[in-house]
Amino acid sequence: MKVDVEFINVAKSYGSVQALRGVSFRVPRGVIAGLVGPNGAGKTTSMKILVGALRRDYGDVRVFGYDPWEHPDKVRRSIGFLPEKPQLPPIKVAHLLGYAAKLKQIQNIEKEVLRVARITGIVHLLDKKANTLSAGWSQRAAIALSLIGEPSLLVLDEPASNLDPIARKEIYELLQTYAKDQKITILLSSHILAEIQSLVDYLIVISRGMIVAEGYISDLLRKAQGLVVAVFHVPSKKLTRIIARELWGLEGVVGVEVLNQDIRVKVSLEKYDTVKEFMLKRNCKIIEERVGDLTDLYIKLIKGGEL
Ligand code: ATP
Repeated sequence: MKVDVEFINVAKSYGSVQALRGVSFRVPRGVIAGLVGPNGAGKTTSMKILVGALRRDYGDVRVFGYDPWEHPDKVRRSIGFLPEKPQLPPIKVAHLLGYAAKLKQIQNIEKEVLRVARITGIVHLLDKKANTLSAGWSQRAAIALSLIGEPSLLVLDEPASNLDPIARKEIYELLQTYAKDQKITILLSSHILAEIQSLVDYLIVISRGMIVAEGYISDLLRKAQGLVVAVFHVPSKKLTRIIARELWGLEGVVGVEVLNQDIRVKVSLEKYDTVKEFMLKRNCKIIEERVGDLTDLYIKLIKGGEL
């Protein structure tokens, strides 16, 4: 397997805050990889280290075989980076894109500006000031910037944050089409797994500065199916919270949710029989039983469960 990005035991602190505590992951060539985790998990820190914008304290990082901190020029030439919530300057979009093309020493600047503007659907905005665009168009312009120079690796920090659901979907579709057409590698971050699940082929889950799962979606899904999600109806509403609390104490239980007079429980497959017996003894009725999905697995991992 060819690998574009490799992190080995990378640590980074900001003062007393340990943002990364020995992070190791790989991004195989040609995949759309998702770096997912809750707020503050360490996604932005990892991405900044990856593109050579931030120095790690410890560990090894290789991007196309180069250390991005030691050889930023070699690495940046082949990378397009979209920072989180980019602020565009008060200059025309065409000039902004042209400037980026110049920095990347592109010969035919006009042609390149038009190419990225076409891909991102912003040709009609080239004469507008970049800082006056709406959130959705601004994000497209920022993505256009990251596409300058036809990078073979795109690193996109929350490419759809702050956008409405339709604009989010459009951005993801745009990226998916581009990745397929150009056969490039994309690493994008998000804190919403459900949103990127159908887009990515490879998933890296980070929580509290540590990687808790990594792999191809298909492999992770197989592991997720080791979970059972069941909904029980509780005979009296008064009992619901008491039973829910008791459930939390049972081995293998990774999620308990009270829904009016029902309880939804997520439990490992091997411990499900114990949970079922526990609920039936309390006269709770089974309403639904199904094997888990990726979201269940994600929640389990974020809460500190083992794979
Ligand atoms: P989000 O989804 O909220 O963007 P994230 O997963 O990208 O979060 P990071 O931004 O990498 O996470 O932050 C990781 C940790 O480091 C958090 O606890 C954050 O508060 C802290 N942190 C990040 N940048 C700084 C900084 N410049 N100074 C101090 N602490 C920081």
